[in-house]
Amino acid sequence: IFFNGWSPRKHQLSVLFSFDYRVFVNRSVTLENIKCYGFDMDYTLAAYKSPDYEDLGFELLRDRLVSIGYPHELLRYNYDPTFPTRGLVFDTMYGNLLKVDSNGNILLCSHGFTFLKRDKIHDYYPNNFIQRGNTDRFYILNTLFNLSETYLYGCLVELFTRCSRYVNCQKGFKYGDLFMSFRSMFQDVRDAMDYVHDTGILKESTLKNLDKYVVRDPNLPVLLTRIKEVAKVFLATNSDYNYTEVRLMNVSIFFSYKNPKKQWRAFFDLVVVDTRKPLFFAEGTVLRQVDTNTGKLRIGTYTGDLQHGTVYSGGSSDIVCDLLDVKGKDILYVGDHIFGDILKSKKRQGWKTFLVVPELAKELQVWTEKSLLHFSCRECPDISAIQTRIKVVTYRMDLSYGQMGSLLRSGSRQTLFASQLMRYADLYSSTCINLLHYPFSYLFRAQSVLVSFSSDMHVIINRDMHLLFHQIPC
Ligand code: IMP
Ligand code: MG
Repeated sequence: IFFNGWSPRKHQLSVLFSFDYRVFVNRSVTLENIKCYGFDMDYTLAAYKSPDYEDLGFELLRDRLVSIGYPHELLRYNYDPTFPTRGLVFDTMYGNLLKVDSNGNILLCSHGFTFLKRDKIHDYYPNNFIQRGNTDRFYILNTLFNLSETYLYGCLVELFTRCSRYVNCQKGFKYGDLFMSFRSMFQDVRDAMDYVHDTGILKESTLKNLDKYVVRDPNLPVLLTRIKEVAKVFLATNSDYNYTEVRLMNVSIFFSYKNPKKQWRAFFDLVVVDTRKPLFFAEGTVLRQVDTNTGKLRIGTYTGDLQHGTVYSGGSSDIVCDLLDVKGKDILYVGDHIFGDILKSKKRQGWKTFLVVPELAKELQVWTEKSLLHFSCRECPDISAIQTRIKVVTYRMDLSYGQMGSLLRSGSRQTLFASQLMRYADLYSSTCINLLHYPFSYLFRAQSVLVSFSSDMHVIINRDMHLLFHQIPC
């Protein structure tokens, strides 16, 4: 339904119906009522090129581990983008990577690069289930930054398992009188991740080769300009001021803007760096002003009104609402982190949410190309043959996504990530740029359902006994 005088041109219409350009709806959102748009930066406004960026992250992580004493054989491993899927869980007790559903039922389990069969999984997890609330033991690899880390866990477990110097034990490896538990290995990798991010070596390497690692989309300034005509806009990033200001936003993202003298900050009513999400959506931290000449933080908490052109550090979502004079329910927040950006802003503050899922493009391609099963028969169908065909197609589909399968499902069962996406993201799309394909008066309307009645596999029998199996995309 088009309204408010917005008349789509022909190409816009075709764009709307193409999955790549679509914004998907879990709960209805009326854009006309949105008074403020908030954006995350990394992997949202600043889109990184995959798999080159994950490759870089992996190399820096791997080299850091070798520099603190991990075996040199680790250097033989290079990032393999076909292995990891976002949203896996690392079991710090047994060193396994797990794909689970929202209740913690195990959908897939690998030890190193070996995928475990059902009976082996039962040896580790007798109920085929984990208590994923046990966050001390189970670590969810939620972000796109975690992809390189996920692959590294696979490499480390594989390396130690195969290396004759180490003795395999249930909870780790023995080497002489040293015991390398999966837990200590996990801690070392986590520390190395923090090192790679906090010391700035990942950011420096990114900035040295922007063309290789960062997507430059000339539509981004267009999107922000259009939004600013109808609503307030803010940026809330966990990145620091120097990375955000000096290079990433200025040099890479707004490079193509037709008026190069217009500073990138002018696209926003408010810019907040060092936000420490998810803490930002709860009690937050002290709000400081950033001296944009030196990059240093001014001492003391900022208590004044909003000053245009000023960059702030820290703060909280409540402070953002006060400074911009908006209510949480009138904000649409766009981010890529299912937990830190979306779950927390929805659960703690009741904001409207838009999740960026770059993997969607590939997910939808596999889904639409490979999920159609076509049977034709004149007599009563052989159900067991059909079931076998369904299993084969499902298995082939799973492999087309990568070794760990789809981000959203395993066979016909939904992953933890998919259930969180449906529960907490009102809207989702492969990129925030896709908002450009809708007028700002648009009503994103969710299907009205009492509860979920339908299974994903639809069986349609027509008059000639042709059976059509069609998995309908979400
Ligand atoms: P945002 O997505 O714009 O909020 O920024 C994410 C920030 O978190 C980036 O500056 C990353 O470098 C940083 N980051 C991501 N993962 C980790 C981690 O595991 N340890 C420390 N920093 C991280
Ligand atoms: Mg982000």
